[in-house]
Amino acid sequence: MSAENPSIVRVLPFAGFEKELDYRVSPHLAGTVRVGALVRVPLRNRSVAGVVVAITGTSGMAPGRLKLVTELVQEEPVLTAELVSLALWMRDYYAASAESVLETMIPAPVRRGMKSKRETYLEAADSVSEADLQALRSRAPKQAALYAFVAQQSRPREKSLVLKRVGAGTSSCRALVARGWLREEFRQFDREAYRDDLSSGETVSQAAPELNPEQADATGAMLASLEKRRFQVHLLQGVTGSGKTEVYIKVLREALARGGGAIFLVPEVALAPQTVGRLRARLEEESGVKTVVWHSHLSEGERFDAWNAVVTGAARLVVGARSAVFAPVPDLRMIVVDEEHEPAYKQEEVPRYHGRDVAVYRAWLNGALCVLGSATPSMESLRNAAEGKYAVNRLLKRVDDRRLPMIHVVDMCREIHSKRGALGLSRPMVDKLIDRFERKEQSILFINRRGFSSSVLCPECGHVHECEHCSITLTYHRSDETVKCHLCGHERAAPRQCPSCGSGKIRWKGFGTQRVEEAVRSVLPKARIARMDTDAMGKKNRFREILSDFRRGRLDILVGTQMIAKGLDFPNVTLVGLVDADLSLHIPDFRANERTFQLLVQVSGRAGRGDRAGEVVVQTFTPHAGTIHYARREDFDGFIEEEMEARRSFQYPPFRHLIHHLFHGANPEKLAFYTEQWARLLETELAGEAEIRGPCPAPLEKVKDRYRYQVWYFTRNVSRLVPKIQALRREFPWPDDLVQVLDVDAVNLT
Ligand code: ADP
Ligand code: ZN
Ligand code: ZN
Repeated sequence: MSAENPSIVRVLPFAGFEKELDYRVSPHLAGTVRVGALVRVPLRNRSVAGVVVAITGTSGMAPGRLKLVTELVQEEPVLTAELVSLALWMRDYYAASAESVLETMIPAPVRRGMKSKRETYLEAADSVSEADLQALRSRAPKQAALYAFVAQQSRPREKSLVLKRVGAGTSSCRALVARGWLREEFRQFDREAYRDDLSSGETVSQAAPELNPEQADATGAMLASLEKRRFQVHLLQGVTGSGKTEVYIKVLREALARGGGAIFLVPEVALAPQTVGRLRARLEEESGVKTVVWHSHLSEGERFDAWNAVVTGAARLVVGARSAVFAPVPDLRMIVVDEEHEPAYKQEEVPRYHGRDVAVYRAWLNGALCVLGSATPSMESLRNAAEGKYAVNRLLKRVDDRRLPMIHVVDMCREIHSKRGALGLSRPMVDKLIDRFERKEQSILFINRRGFSSSVLCPECGHVHECEHCSITLTYHRSDETVKCHLCGHERAAPRQCPSCGSGKIRWKGFGTQRVEEAVRSVLPKARIARMDTDAMGKKNRFREILSDFRRGRLDILVGTQMIAKGLDFPNVTLVGLVDADLSLHIPDFRANERTFQLLVQVSGRAGRGDRAGEVVVQTFTPHAGTIHYARREDFDGFIEEEMEARRSFQYPPFRHLIHHLFHGANPEKLAFYTEQWARLLETELAGEAEIRGPCPAPLEKVKDRYRYQVWYFTRNVSRLVPKIQALRREFPWPDDLVQVLDVDAVNLT
């Protein structure tokens, strides 16, 4: 075989074309076309963009027959070689198209070959007197407003942005420039422009506290890993308020001080304004390291700009939600995944990657340190820790020894009989809400709306129907009065009487945020109440407004889904209520216990973070459920031990990987027929490599008139199984209207 011939490259074209193709590089480009370069190549009769994934010495085709790369779009590669490897791994592991992965990694304007943008900036002359301005105000108010706005800025601002903000036209601007009051300057897009809106009002400047012994131990262990420049994952397990963020900051500072780059992931940027503000205040303002905040609300120009700031090394710290894991940070030394257990790290569209797992893999490619932090780590990470793959650092004490809140468990079975509460709120909950309102303290009510409120529950004894084969809740089907298991398809007639106590009052149940808000209004008509859930959050700034109002004491009670349980720290909140602790326990999902435990711990972390002790009220129909007991005592280890044992006995994740295969189609009989054929085929072909379960209807059986079926594969080796499934899929005679979704390491099982 010939030595590596730099004049042949392998390219992944953006052309809905799942193949890598070989091209020749003409002598004048040879040497400049590197792995990760964005190029244009001829494909059939078109010219398409593509990414160079390898410099190959050989090609299946004779070099003379290879076409030439037409253009190198930009000198600097758009991906580092390590990101190219990551992309190819993601393609194979997550059964995603390479194109979808590259589109996720490279912002659209970069892909389209957008060049660095230049903008006109405005700066005010300072020689203008108050009297002159006054005079202008009466004659030309628009000009005066424009001048005043620019004069207030601490640095030159983009002209287009300023004009929009002030509502002034270019003619006003021209007049002021002619007058010498404003200067225009044409230069590179301001790298700081995008950073303004996000953490305004939330930036907390604070000095670095001295670390307590637990924090110092954790920090020391991580610094040792950082020093070696060898891949290592540290699981940082510490209750809310135990000082995890301080540990991250300390280690990040070292990583950055050595000239390296770092990525900090949060589940949702809009919900972490305090963390983002703190990182900025401590790392940017003190250490002078520029930070880029990567979030979904960036405009194309801002995203392009953020990208450029990272590529050029102008910004070395990237803070953002899951897609920030792809930031092209040069010399990446450290990745932090905060709240690593959060399901939000899983992308629920193609490519269906898990941000935490990608972070770990990327850290491995880079020989970097990866820190996974949580008060309630995922079972997956705990298992990796137990197997010795991850180092574990624990923070057991809250900073300042702050007390745990009191947790009251209200038995809703009894409450139903007493009829004293209001629409789903128990008497103790109502009493405590009134008490807080009178003491001018704040309360938060959580409604847990995961899954579907369709489990069968006995209000007399709290009995919930479970499948005897799968240990998950059976789902009630009103249409044919049956209960079904959505894991194995087991089905029987819905019971008329409780099999446990014989009561005939058995029913299905559920609450909504709106109903709870109404209930609170009915008992506290004078209270200022706001509701936060995805339905009520049409506008992107509503979140920040509500949180900011709540912080300033302009609201008394916040009602919301568990999305508001993350990372918020309100010192005046002394009561946290969880309205329906059962729903997540009884949704048909083997992670239900884990989610409920995490939610309970997270929720109680929200109460009493100021000087006042907090109280937590948990309403449940199953007050004796183990999960609630463990959470109440904050017995992490007890919970984990029991839950791990349950997972082991069923060989659920983290003991095996779960691949979820969802199908939907207009005709349920056809769907059932084909998925059945498919599952039986796999049972033969994959015998010994995977356990196949199903097909059976998905928990969400019909969406927009399309029926949904699912098949599950349990395996120990995803990388070996996925290519086989993919090959079989390509051969299988699927009917035309059937759509399928393959989800590796699925999190959402609906
Ligand atoms: P976590 O991230 O685990 O919730 P934080 O790092 O946010 O915890 O710490 C909670 C609070 O305690 C913060 O206000 C932080 O500034 C403060 N804090 C953290 N570590 C210390 C320390 N060693 N000494 C004093 N205060 C600390
Ligand atoms: Zn019963
Ligand atoms: Zn079952």
